[in-house]
Amino acid sequence: MRDLAGRLDLCCINTATLGHREPIERIAERVARAGFGWLSPWRQEIDEAHPQRAGAAIRGAGLKVGGYCRTTYFTADDAVGRRAAIDSNRRAVEVAAELGAPLFVAVCGGLAPGSTDVNADRRHILDGLAALVPTLRATGVRIALEPLHPFYAADRSLLSTIAQAIDWCELLDDGGPPCFGIAVDAYHVWWDPALEASIERAGTRVLALHVCDWLRQTRDPLLDRGMMGDGVVDLRALRRHVEATGFTGPVEVEIFSKADWWQRDPDEVLAVCAGRLQRCC
Ligand code: ZN
Repeated sequence: MRDLAGRLDLCCINTATLGHREPIERIAERVARAGFGWLSPWRQEIDEAHPQRAGAAIRGAGLKVGGYCRTTYFTADDAVGRRAAIDSNRRAVEVAAELGAPLFVAVCGGLAPGSTDVNADRRHILDGLAALVPTLRATGVRIALEPLHPFYAADRSLLSTIAQAIDWCELLDDGGPPCFGIAVDAYHVWWDPALEASIERAGTRVLALHVCDWLRQTRDPLLDRGMMGDGVVDLRALRRHVEATGFTGPVEVEIFSKADWWQRDPDEVLAVCAGRLQRCC
């Protein structure tokens, strides 16, 4: 396992961690000044009609792009809605390529509005992902399927475990060159009894490692993520399992924390992230 001491160049800040409070140019400058090597931006921070400027700002700060966040949900209540989601996600794959991001993170979507048909909605998600294959092949960008904690199955993601994500990757790639892989987010998968075995089975499909912590007394499963070391997740063990697959990508901090970390000075947040990455991950 890599030693992160003094190696913030191996670490990435997902911009959600800073609460989307500033333009991407300013965020990139802060993250670079704090010593990190990587940045993962969100779509709302990028002008997708003209992504060159954001790309130049990130590169100009000396940062690499870890990944681009994230898909529009593939589930919708009619075919028009599903087609619009595919179009939006296709454009985002192109933007990811322009930003130099090797991957586009997929949060697949929960049940369509009014739906109670889990299987039909899962099929729609797979159809939507499959429709992106030509763009993935043309750009070289891969989709990192991110399983979300089953708490979110109804409203955000019918993809809930790493094992399920592997099955989807195999189905979607079907023996061809791999367009799909997996984002392992500590927050979503730490509880999984099959965690270790699933990561091992995923092997080189693991494209991203997101870290934060699950607070024992979490107040809000969406926006009360903890700083690494403040919760219950054995992050070192998780990273050991992930790196045993040969993973050499950045360790990415992704913290949604409306009442706590998003209220703090961004430079303070970055300094604490740097310390905890080296001590707790
Ligand atoms: Zn994540």
